[in-house]
Amino acid sequence: MSYVDEVFDLVVAKNPAQPEFHQAVKEVLESLRVVIEANEEAYRKDALLERLVTPERQLLFRVPWVDDKGQVQVNNGFRVQFNSAIGPYKGGLRLHPSVNLGIIKFLGFEQIFKNSLTGLPIGGGKGGSDFDPKGKSDREVMAFCQSFITELHKYIGADTDVPAGDIGTGAREIGYMYGQYKRITGLYEGVLTGKGLSYGGSLARTEATGYGLLYLTEEMLKCNGKDIAGKTVAISGSGNVAIYAAQKAQQLGAKVVTVSDSTGWIYDPEGIDVALLKEVKEVKRARLTEYAAARKSAEYHEKKNGEHGVWNVKCDVALPCATQNELDLDDAKALVANGCIAVAEGANMPTTMEATEYLQKNGVLFCPGKAANAGGVATSALEMSQNSERLSWTFEEVDAKLKGIMVNIFHNLDDAAKKYGMAGNYVAGANIAGFLKVAEAMTAQGIV
Ligand code: NDP
Repeated sequence: MSYVDEVFDLVVAKNPAQPEFHQAVKEVLESLRVVIEANEEAYRKDALLERLVTPERQLLFRVPWVDDKGQVQVNNGFRVQFNSAIGPYKGGLRLHPSVNLGIIKFLGFEQIFKNSLTGLPIGGGKGGSDFDPKGKSDREVMAFCQSFITELHKYIGADTDVPAGDIGTGAREIGYMYGQYKRITGLYEGVLTGKGLSYGGSLARTEATGYGLLYLTEEMLKCNGKDIAGKTVAISGSGNVAIYAAQKAQQLGAKVVTVSDSTGWIYDPEGIDVALLKEVKEVKRARLTEYAAARKSAEYHEKKNGEHGVWNVKCDVALPCATQNELDLDDAKALVANGCIAVAEGANMPTTMEATEYLQKNGVLFCPGKAANAGGVATSALEMSQNSERLSWTFEEVDAKLKGIMVNIFHNLDDAAKKYGMAGNYVAGANIAGFLKVAEAMTAQGIV
């Protein structure tokens, strides 16, 4: 049996009931096959793959907090410090009822390669909780965040592990966590990113993932003789990534016709009104029905069982920006039938493996999340740099750096795919380019 297959079997056996983690490992190992086989003996002797798929440290903890009725609630807290070969652990905190160890491990594993692709010195980690901030008062969210960080603070720090936002963790949650960290440790340091501008946050961090997604998509299209201007774009999600992806797509001359949330989706043939979307989602924290109520041209569709809705709309470019496995084989078939030419993942692993293969086989340009959404973590790393030098850069400076990083990422994965005989396979290119740097650093640092 090949080394790659052996290690994949080991992952399944040692990590039962973690399908998302298995899926993420399978996708990466499959595309590394050619690289691993060229150097199999050395990698096997060093157990490099076994070490790569095993987190350096996994923290599971209790998060008790008191709700507004005086009732004590208990949630599970997680932080997986996956790989620190190229820098301190870096990756977001997800707050969503679906969170479990397998999901955090899949996200942490992806993060290793994503962070490597940015070219910045950051290792891979991820964390979160099954706490649901939806429908909670500000006081309840604060009580949860303070309890969460009271435990987690022992294991994080500006030079060891620097968490950030993700689903359910925005500026409000980061603020409460930062305040508690500072109170306990007495340290005013860049331990979290995505902070508010008045206490060490970076300009353009809020916009970074969505903007970065569009910078990369623009470059991918350009290198394939196409232009983002004039294209019709379907976006899923209506959170941080989706909102700023829509905004940048429109700035680049495209028309965004869909957004969604967990209960429904909007089709707006005149183009999504981003200011209205921000008001509904960022200010009121309301459902998309409010968007539809305020805009004549918008149709609201309730999500039916198993349907994802937005991918059945005719579009040139599809940008899944909500959550994992939200674009399946049926959705991929609908996109191809409707003439879609490019898919770039704003979310982490939103496309199933069958859907990815179908899109690639049918000539759709496909860029995986670990490259396409790396703008968020890259700008988080820029926030860390600004915190270290106790300076803050202008929006234009950060945005220009972000754009440079995204263009560079695309060329790195394009070059890697070509070098290994898989031109145009950006999934393979991203995994290979991300892996080679981490593997080299792990080898250089010995058996740790
Ligand atoms: P937000 O919480 O701001 O928004 C998430 C959006 O996705 C919401 O519209 C939400 O709908 C929808 N959603 C979440 N879970 C589900 C679900 N199970 N089924 C259907 N819809 C769902 O998160 P972000 O925008 O920050 O993150 C979106 C994706 O991008 C995630 O995969 C995240 O890991 C990834 N990402 C985020 C980065 C960042 O900087 N924020 C960086 C890199 C990747 P509803 O409001 O109804 O729950």
